Amino acid sequence: MDLKDPVVVYTAASNLEAHVIVDMLTNNGISAHAVEDQSAVSLWQLGTISQFHKPKVWVDRSRAKDAAELIAEFEDKRNDRRQPATSDETISSQCEECMQASDFPAAQNGTTQDCPHCGAFMDVGDLKWDDADFGVAEDE
Ligand SMILES: [Zn+2]
Repeated sequence: MDLKDPVVVYTAASNLEAHVIVDMLTNNGISAHAVEDQSAVSLWQLGTISQFHKPKVWVDRSRAKDAAELIAEFEDKRNDRRQPATSDETISSQCEECMQASDFPAAQNGTTQDCPHCGAFMDVGDLKWDDADFGVAEDE
């Protein structure tokens, strides 16, 4: 490590994630290092405390604020990308004609579809039912 005053800016869930963060910081001109969980010696000395398995990303203290901002930005972008990709998610909407709630693929959010119950046009995604109804079987 060539850092004068290293501080942890990120604790990754996996070695791969730590590497992605280090690459991103390095590309932005911040010297960063990932300390991975491959150090068997420290594991054997310290026991099986789960925190030690999580790779940490280190930068110099003088760049910690910049790094934290870049990481926050990076995570925002990553979350944005994830949301439309979850294709098996559904949203529930209520038909204004027959008042029945129906599930539609999340990709149809904001579109107009035929109601599966009565065939009328209905808007998908206006109402949020998922929290209240989630997990309750229809015939209970
Ligand atoms: Zn209907």
